[in-house]
Amino acid sequence: MSQLRAAAAAAAGGLRRSGGRAAPPARRSRKGASPRKAAAPAPAPPPARHLFSDPAEIEALRRDLLAWYDKCKRDLPWRTRAATEPDADRRAYAVWVSEIMLQQTQVATVIDYYNRWMQKWPTLQALAQASLEEVNELWAGLGYYSRGKRLQEAARKVVSELAGQMPRTAEDLQKLLPGVGQYTAGAIASISYGQATGVVDGNVIRVLCRLRCIGADSSSPAVIDWLWDMANALVDRSRPGDFNQALMELGATVCVPKAPLCGECPVKQHCRARLRVEKELAFASQKLFGKATPVPDVEDCGAGGCPLCPPAAEPWDSSLGVTNFPRKAAKKQPRVARTATCVLERRGCHGDHEYLIVQRPSSGLLAGLWEFPSLPLAQDLQEEKQKEALADHLQAWMGQPVVAGDLQLIGEVVHIFSHIHQTYVVYSLSLDRDVTLDPASSPSRWVTEEEFHASAVSTAMKKVLKACEKQRGKGSSPGQGSKRKRGAKAQGTGSTSPGTQLSLHAFLRPPTAP
Ligand code: SF4
Repeated sequence: MSQLRAAAAAAAGGLRRSGGRAAPPARRSRKGASPRKAAAPAPAPPPARHLFSDPAEIEALRRDLLAWYDKCKRDLPWRTRAATEPDADRRAYAVWVSEIMLQQTQVATVIDYYNRWMQKWPTLQALAQASLEEVNELWAGLGYYSRGKRLQEAARKVVSELAGQMPRTAEDLQKLLPGVGQYTAGAIASISYGQATGVVDGNVIRVLCRLRCIGADSSSPAVIDWLWDMANALVDRSRPGDFNQALMELGATVCVPKAPLCGECPVKQHCRARLRVEKELAFASQKLFGKATPVPDVEDCGAGGCPLCPPAAEPWDSSLGVTNFPRKAAKKQPRVARTATCVLERRGCHGDHEYLIVQRPSSGLLAGLWEFPSLPLAQDLQEEKQKEALADHLQAWMGQPVVAGDLQLIGEVVHIFSHIHQTYVVYSLSLDRDVTLDPASSPSRWVTEEEFHASAVSTAMKKVLKACEKQRGKGSSPGQGSKRKRGAKAQGTGSTSPGTQLSLHAFLRPPTAP
């Protein structure tokens, strides 16, 4: 056992040695860091400055953090459910849903989705009976759509294979439920069942790295390992769920990434990053008055020797203060992608605009969601070529001629997915008759604007429609098209004289044969 692990176990009151619950088997963060390979040689133990080795300090930190949490915690619907739901399965389900929704998503965004979800599917059993289409519809706009799908698959598994009972430990939650990693398992088990197990997410990583001046790459498996050990050692034995939530709450509201509120921090007296900043300030002030003395205990442990210090090539930067921590290896640049997308539009039988949407494949990015007919584009394709490619795509798909010149360029809409910088080149095409879609192609349907927004469509597609409507609204009231365009089209077809008020159908001429 490494020194840190030994210290962690000692700090935990000999929990592991005395046969208590073991720590979760895999060292895996919310972002999925790999577990350390069993055969790998043990890394050099870090110096004491990176550890919590004093049981009295751990007790004080728990006490200070929990007192702050009791006073300052945000009132959130999943916290209310966790605190008031007497049934353990319902309680675990309520926490589970919140934890899945909160992955990579802001609390403020999640609240409404969570409330609607719990209202619609208050139990595992209710969720297990829902269709994937319903799940996608409710999830639309929340991003990372596979989360909803996996949540439902796991609910079905609990109902069909586990007699509707949620696994009762972090280890079993992680082992038995698809989509539940070490973080989610620890959160459910500590908050719902009171299991004394820690959690490590982005907020916890930031807080712990600052508390103990950990400047090595915080996304590396080795550092994630140390942080899990630390979280398991620190977690309060009598209030593990509150302690874990308090640590995350601190990271979300006080120890924030860019401008942490150290003056208001309940654990500032335990924070070594802050201590270092204070010492530097004291040193600068002494220097000002000609009394400078060497600053003790604020340097890194030693170039190259410490697995948790910043790399020698990137030493402490005084201008950054506590935000020197945590550090991450440079992020991989997102892939750049361009897609032509066409808002196909017609007048419905009640006179409303209707849009054609098609369903994406059931796997891959945005699986099963609906979108406007779209075509991935090669980079640097000229506009005329883009139009031709899109017209060919629509033509093959609709089984009838589509003229590239009829596609009206609306503009570009950029949407950033986690790993893709996606640009949609948006076109519109208005039809005054129905089209018969190839039944062998993807499922498709016409929807009104209201139905579009209630469908399982991504935020990116909502942006596309908004851009299209904005463009349409520039020159005319809805349904009438742009005056300039109408004039241009009318002159082209010779059906009206300039300045005449046009009907929509006069403007929307049908596609002509090539
Ligand atoms: Fe974070 Fe500042 Fe508190 Fe340290 S003192 S934990 S850096 S907010």
